[in-house]
Amino acid sequence: MSTSSHSTQNDATNFLSAVMDSCRDAIIACSPSGEIVSWNRGAQEIYGYKSREVLGKHLRLTVTDQLDDEVDLIASRALSGQPLDHFDTVRVRKSGEEFPAAVCGFPIHDAAGRVAGFATIERDISDRVKAANALRNALAAAQEANAAKSRFLANVSHELRTPMNAIVGMTALALEEDLSDELRDYLDTIRESSDAMIHLVNDVLDLSKFESEQFELDEVAYDLRDLIESTVRVLGPAAHEKGLELVCSLDTDTPNNVVGDPVRLRQILTNLVSNAIKFTPDGEVVVDVTTESIERNRCHLRFSVVDTGIGISERDQRRIFAPFTQVEAEMTRRYSGTGLGLTISRHLIKCFGGELELQSETGKGSRFSFEMSLPLARHQTRPPRETTDKIRGLRVLVADDNETSRQAIAEQLEDWEMSVDTVSSGEAALDRLHSAHSEGSPYDLALVDALMPGVDGFEVASQIEEAPSIDAKAILMAAPADRVEFSRRCADAGAAAYVQKPVSQSQLLNAVAQATGAAAIDGEPQRGLFDREAPAQPLRILLAEDTPANRKVVERVLTRRGHELRCVVNGREAIDAFKKDDYDLVLMDVQMPIMDGLQATDAIRAMERESGMGMGVPIIAMTAHSRRGDREQCIRAGMSDYLSKPLDLKELIHTVETSVEESASKPELVAKEVTPPTKQHAESHPTAWDPKVALSRLRDDRSLLIDMISFYEEDYPTLLKSMQEQRLAGDLDGLCRSAHSFKGLASTFEAAGVVETAKQLEHSAREGQEDSLEMLTSVLSQRASELSAQLKWYRESNP
Ligand code: ADP
Repeated sequence: MSTSSHSTQNDATNFLSAVMDSCRDAIIACSPSGEIVSWNRGAQEIYGYKSREVLGKHLRLTVTDQLDDEVDLIASRALSGQPLDHFDTVRVRKSGEEFPAAVCGFPIHDAAGRVAGFATIERDISDRVKAANALRNALAAAQEANAAKSRFLANVSHELRTPMNAIVGMTALALEEDLSDELRDYLDTIRESSDAMIHLVNDVLDLSKFESEQFELDEVAYDLRDLIESTVRVLGPAAHEKGLELVCSLDTDTPNNVVGDPVRLRQILTNLVSNAIKFTPDGEVVVDVTTESIERNRCHLRFSVVDTGIGISERDQRRIFAPFTQVEAEMTRRYSGTGLGLTISRHLIKCFGGELELQSETGKGSRFSFEMSLPLARHQTRPPRETTDKIRGLRVLVADDNETSRQAIAEQLEDWEMSVDTVSSGEAALDRLHSAHSEGSPYDLALVDALMPGVDGFEVASQIEEAPSIDAKAILMAAPADRVEFSRRCADAGAAAYVQKPVSQSQLLNAVAQATGAAAIDGEPQRGLFDREAPAQPLRILLAEDTPANRKVVERVLTRRGHELRCVVNGREAIDAFKKDDYDLVLMDVQMPIMDGLQATDAIRAMERESGMGMGVPIIAMTAHSRRGDREQCIRAGMSDYLSKPLDLKELIHTVETSVEESASKPELVAKEVTPPTKQHAESHPTAWDPKVALSRLRDDRSLLIDMISFYEEDYPTLLKSMQEQRLAGDLDGLCRSAHSFKGLASTFEAAGVVETAKQLEHSAREGQEDSLEMLTSVLSQRASELSAQLKWYRESNP
């Protein structure tokens, strides 16, 4: 080797060692057996050992006892010629202090390319870990603060409902008095404002429930057609006031009876239709429901709310679904609102498994639509056959200047197999009626829109009445601001019947039946607060309610009905009063100080059992909670019915009076027999479920129970199968959700075993306790099929 090349190599070695010593990371080289052969300055600073203290010692010196094998791992990996990527671990300094470190390893090759040892590069990452921890803590704190905000919002809006209850109730009562016009006007304003306020409070409550994930949909059987029609009808006056045509167009095969959450569907429709009315200066608002398909026991429907209003620009279409968003500040002043409606509707539709879609063009109008799939209830109500038989084949002329409305009505009449012609004005209607007569094929009925430009419906009806040659009976249709005035004008014009717009199927059939003398179908007439006939025998009622204003509302309403009331302010006083006197009924607030309504009910039921009283007194819960499950909780505690606050006073009267009638006629219905299923009870009980409790939960509706059994039989095998799949795929979130659904499915039947197992499974999946999942799924599957067999037996023996 020449001197110059020798000195070049020396330079390089020095330079290399300078690099190593300048590096702040620890660079440690070891012999193949792990003894330290080189220890740079970085290593000295990080670990606190001088080179001479460590050279020749084993690298294990730098790790804690628990991580001993980590060094062997690095060594064996490096000696096999493989580098080891960075990983985070723990190292220990000379002082004994442990610190987080990022470590990588690699083999050292000699000149001949053989592995001559290995080296590690180690970095002290204390600062980084500290920062990450701080960030994680800050995130957790922020999440907690956000959750606290949602809880706060939920609590505040919940608390606001209690005083609102009194305001709404007292106002309704005051409006029943004989009032001067001026006072009535003041009170009407209070009523409208408190309605608006309750609406807002409910919106905020919903939103906070979504955020704190406390939200669940209800599942009850209801009349879908009736729900849609009545929801739209309520908004009729608002549309009429603006001169808008409001049309409810339901496919004729829209099913009547479905299972789902009617309150939430009503909320969505009310929101979309009120928006449509609000943002449409002229033209029409159409609620269109089309049946996409009906499978064996499910229907798939598309709901659309279409308006001819101001429309929404493309840019705004993306924004309006966010909470508290409204288009343009200038417009907000023109149209009141909170900007919460669409956010909530969209969320609700998502919960229903759909998506809220929007098509809109500025100046032309908007179409909000969504799909929904609903299980059909087992029993479908149909219009009475004797009526539809009588009107089949009748010739009817429909006159309406609004095309959508004309078509919707014609479609419905054709579905009843009537022979339908349509015209778009009063003049055309009269022409057609006359010519039909002279052609020898006169019309039996003329269904005429009362409000049309030119010759209006009243005029057409009067002319029909006067023309000796026309025998068609006239039916007038209008969205009247004043029902009394409208019916008077209809009678004056000689109309045989009238129907309110938007026209509903049942009202249309009623009007046609009435005009043609076919059997009329009863429709529930609108009643005032005190119009229902009071029971002959006044009731002795015990009211337990801690809020004075609420107490006053209930007391006033019920004493005005002639009942006797004894008021107490907590559960303990309720029990004392119940011991002393006989009552026909107890109205029990759920949340009360000292002793709540559930505990008091429990005590009253125990007293009844001990004294061997044959019949339990009806106990009606009143609660401002509006969560799903609240009702179940009350019924489980032995209560017979449930009223939610703010109280609807008509519903209060109805529930109180019918509960007593029912409990007198059906002693077996009384909730006294309903004992909450304790664990012991479930185990000693021979059956997998409790038909009695299940029935009482469903208000003794046996056919509903049979429906629920069919749903269970349909849903449970699929649910079990997906749980198996989720478990095998390690999809714990999915498994947790499925177990939760299973719990819900089985709880209808008070199936304690299945519910308990599903609950454990849900919990284990959530906590990631993978060991128990297989066992729990198999127990659940076994119990679920046991339950299914027993339900089936029940269904077959109760046709
Ligand atoms: P709110 O109506 O209480 O303001 P929403 O969330 O229901 O709140 O609606 C948000 C905004 O979306 C409205 O303020 C309005 O600007 C716009 N919008 C909603 N529906 C319509 C519609 N049918 N036509 C035009 N604009 C609409």
